Amino acid sequence: MKKSISVSDVVKDYPTAGEGFLALDGLSLEIAEGQFVAIVGRSGSGKTTLLNLLAGIDRPTSGTVRVEGADLASLAETELAAWRGRNVGLVFQFFQLLPTLTVVENVMLAMDFVGKVPTGERRGRARELLERVGIGDQAGKLPATLSGGQQQRAAIARALANDPPLLLADEPTGNLDSATADAVLALFGELNDEGRTIVVVTHERDIRSVVGREIRLVDGKVVADTGAGVAS
Ligand code: ADP
Ligand code: MG
Repeated sequence: MKKSISVSDVVKDYPTAGEGFLALDGLSLEIAEGQFVAIVGRSGSGKTTLLNLLAGIDRPTSGTVRVEGADLASLAETELAAWRGRNVGLVFQFFQLLPTLTVVENVMLAMDFVGKVPTGERRGRARELLERVGIGDQAGKLPATLSGGQQQRAAIARALANDPPLLLADEPTGNLDSATADAVLALFGELNDEGRTIVVVTHERDIRSVVGREIRLVDGKVVADTGAGVAS
């Protein structure tokens, strides 16, 4: 099975956090293409740190991070930004839509940054993606006029803008009521059925009914993995 993600012996030390404190403590894991994986664990266990390393937003103190065929340490910052734009869709807890742009413009902006989708096709593709996530009728509105669930759907459409093989989401349901959270997780499930690899950091207790694999972190280490070996 082809690997989407291969993390080997990764240590992440935030120097400001005090001597000997490791946010990630020799962590290794592999995720195959097409898997839908939840990363779970208490606050402070290293989930966001891990996701940021996978997205190339931050770099490890030591160890290797390979994602979608690239050894991220070998890429300079500008190369990393270009790689991320084509390979990774990011979804955050607080949506992080630009407030002065309409919903459809938010999705188009992601295409403008990467330059993969031809200019003349961007608006049409953005509208199709908004239809795909169920908010086609909200395209011309400003984000603040949408509900939280609708804003997260808009953020997911933006994450899909450049058709990345991998979606990384950090507590995407953390700011939503439980019914809306279930609907957003179901949407991730559909996107996974379409072949995308998805890694979701979450506190949802019933996440196992949705995902294929759950990886639990404690103090920057993997302590449980329902799918260990699946990727190898
Ligand atoms: P989680 O997402 O599981 O809550 P984080 O990855 O955000 O965990 O944090 C793991 C640990 O690293 C925590 O103890 C946190 O305080 C610490 N940490 C995270 N980011 C920083 C930072 N920028 N500087 C110093 N310490 C940090
Ligand atoms: Mg976090």
